[in-house]
Amino acid sequence: RIVAPQSASPNEDSVERALRPRALSEYIGQHRVREQLEIFIAAARNRGEALDHVLLFGPPGLGKTTLAHIVAHEMGVQLRQTSGPVLERPGDLAALLTNLEKNDVLFIDEIHRLSPVVEEILYPALEDFQIDILIGEGPAARSVKIDLQPFTLVGATTRAGMLTNPLRDRFGIVSRLEFYSAEDLTHIVKRSAQLLNAQTTPDGAAEIARRARGTPRIANRLLRRVRDYAEVKADGRIDVAVAGAALAMLEVDPQGLDLMDRKLLEAIIHKFDGGPVGVDSLAAAIGEERDTIEDVIEPFLIQHGYLQRTPRGRMATQNTWKHLGLAPPKPAGT
Ligand code: ADP
Repeated sequence: RIVAPQSASPNEDSVERALRPRALSEYIGQHRVREQLEIFIAAARNRGEALDHVLLFGPPGLGKTTLAHIVAHEMGVQLRQTSGPVLERPGDLAALLTNLEKNDVLFIDEIHRLSPVVEEILYPALEDFQIDILIGEGPAARSVKIDLQPFTLVGATTRAGMLTNPLRDRFGIVSRLEFYSAEDLTHIVKRSAQLLNAQTTPDGAAEIARRARGTPRIANRLLRRVRDYAEVKADGRIDVAVAGAALAMLEVDPQGLDLMDRKLLEAIIHKFDGGPVGVDSLAAAIGEERDTIEDVIEPFLIQHGYLQRTPRGRMATQNTWKHLGLAPPKPAGT
């Protein structure tokens, strides 16, 4: 899926790393989050302390991992990276924690997927920089307290609501990342184009940005595919006509919706009479995981008025019918 916000391959990961801003001053958009972090980082640095624990939430591809790296860079410390599902046993987390140096950043992606036993270890670590581990088995087992260096946990999740309350309460800084405006994304496309040595005209960059679902990762991916198209089908320069033609070939429509978005909207209209339909039925109808629908596809569609979430399920809006070139049904009773 061309506009899937997750990265698709190791090769893509390395390009992504190359495009990743390193300092807060290079981080485009998210002004509120940036301003807050600027202040909190400066204060912590002046005191020589670790930054308070940070929870970042928002749909994939909006820059959570990037921000975690930036926090470490700005604090002048190292970053260790892991993710919720990778930490299977308490010992996995204990090993990471005991290896941290003073004020280091530990980044846990998908933190809502930590297993409960691992999460237990995290509480005292976050609160008192201490862990309790059990040594030995059976009657001879005993619990040992280990002191840790002060550190900053940066946790990332797609939905803050999926975290347990005790975990959420232990973050001093909670920031929600928003979809990017077209201007901010244009800025990002221009910056990436420069780093990739791709030549774009201002309206070519804007066209890519407009169709990137408010998401930097998608903008960067579209830019690379459009660059390929420009090199093969034109003289390499990405202007608005080339961008438009390339994006049409990629089946990204003028509003930035892709095949999957349209499949979901079409299913609601054609299979469920416009809804309301429960997310599980919808997932079955389009052969997609429920989580992918909730984390990746829906947030953008809801924000842009193509989909409505009601207590009884998902519903198409007037916009949905219009977008698919259909006549909306007459309101009941007319
Ligand atoms: P997430 O962790 O939220 O899924 P990432 O931090 O991996 O997202 O960001 C995906 C890509 O988007 C990064 O490689 C980076 O190049 C780009 N990116 C994200 N946020 C920004 C930003 N604010 N400014 C410029 N590029 C960004």
